[in-house]
Amino acid sequence: MKLNDPTLLRTDAYINGAWAAAPQDRRFAVTNPATGETIAEVADLGAAETTAAIDAAVPAQKAWAARTAKDRAMVMRKWYELIMANAEDLAVILTTEMGKPITEARGEIAYGASFIDWFAEEARRVCGDVMESPIPDKRFLTFKQPVGVFGAITPWNFPIAMITRKVSPGIAAGCACVLKPAEQTPLSALALAEVADRAGIPAGIINIVTGMDAPAIGETMCADDRIRKMTFTGSTEVGRILMRQSAGTLKKMSLELGGNAPLIVFDDADIDTAIAGTMASKYRNAGQTCVCANRIFVQDGIYDEFARRLTEASEAMKVGNGMEDGVEQGPIIDDQGLEKIERHVADARAKGAEVLTGGDRHELGGTYYQPTVLANMSSEMMMFGEETFGPVAGLFRFSTDDEAVAMANDTEFGLAAYIFTDSTSRLFRVSEALEYGMVSANTGIFSSEVGPFGGVKSSGLGREGSKYGIDEFLEIKFLCVGI
Ligand code: ADP
Repeated sequence: MKLNDPTLLRTDAYINGAWAAAPQDRRFAVTNPATGETIAEVADLGAAETTAAIDAAVPAQKAWAARTAKDRAMVMRKWYELIMANAEDLAVILTTEMGKPITEARGEIAYGASFIDWFAEEARRVCGDVMESPIPDKRFLTFKQPVGVFGAITPWNFPIAMITRKVSPGIAAGCACVLKPAEQTPLSALALAEVADRAGIPAGIINIVTGMDAPAIGETMCADDRIRKMTFTGSTEVGRILMRQSAGTLKKMSLELGGNAPLIVFDDADIDTAIAGTMASKYRNAGQTCVCANRIFVQDGIYDEFARRLTEASEAMKVGNGMEDGVEQGPIIDDQGLEKIERHVADARAKGAEVLTGGDRHELGGTYYQPTVLANMSSEMMMFGEETFGPVAGLFRFSTDDEAVAMANDTEFGLAAYIFTDSTSRLFRVSEALEYGMVSANTGIFSSEVGPFGGVKSSGLGREGSKYGIDEFLEIKFLCVGI
């Protein structure tokens, strides 16, 4: 890995403003999914070190919360600027440990940093209320105060953005965090901490606990009553575990869990827009995002042309090592991810799906998979009920709007949905009928620090980003004053 500033590559955990190795210097390997090579050996911390991080966060949080919001915002702004100044190195670290094309990694650095910039501004706009009192000799007011120390657990598919989306509203509000990054991508998290340290974020405010034993680290956070909130992005299964484990200490929870995104293309859609939007949604990060289109519903009248054009566009995709110029799709994160894709495709084929292109591992070997389009999909298939997390576009045919909405909603998940139509009334009717936290109409990319991100049903609780995101880290205190 060639970096302009090699000191961004940290391999120890970051606790109380210092770099910390594990007891007996235990380490785990981080590999490059594009080559299978080991990139680094990172400190393998466990439950005891997680508790030490909480010990550090508690007093640090009190001092941080006592500073003015403007003061916190200025430190955050410095963090944002240093991330942007080091964006290329951070993108290289990200692509090397995660595999996404370097252009997508650059986009993620800017997107990730935007949350810091946004919440630094939002920190200064936290307001309580003065209410009209119902009692003549009493006055009613509210304050908003930080929840305290929070635990955060993040996934590998956005190694930078999923961290900043949680940490920046939290620290803007005056909280401190203990964060466990995914074991596949700890280097981006540690580089982010290095830059935060340089920016002057005080010791103990951002603690990064790297480790392989996620269940022990997670349980330690959930069981500790000094942690007042958990924020998690990852699988629904682990989200449920964390919620259960937090029941004993009744924490505030933000959970951004699995999706099973429908993408509906109506006859009246502009076909160029629909193809471009589907390609962007489906193949972003090789299909490994929780908002990637997972089920593509296409209306009768446009189905054949859409299938032909999507197949052509998929065949034109350049697959390879994300560091190479022009690559649009990198490797799948690991063997487990690859095997799930293979299981879904085999199941669809056995139940009657037709392979229009792809359908197999890529000739590059490793964990590369071909961009794939499957036609003739049905609701009996695994891909209907569960997200594939890979570059597989499954096409389902439908006739009426009601049928499309019913199929789209026929899932326990409710994160993102996409629709393509030129009819304004249909756009509103269908958007309102979809049981999803987010609807993206006539575009395949909607994520922004300004829009609220989150799901309903088994896709989770709470909203990240936007003017609402900071509320997740604030408590409302009611003050009643007798006069
Ligand atoms: P994915 O399929 O994206 O890896 P996971 O939910 O397994 O989704 O992982 C997301 C994050 O949750 C990672 O940081 C992982 O280490 C962590 N994790 C996995 N299992 C647990 C657990 N039992 N308790 C706490 N964290 C966990």
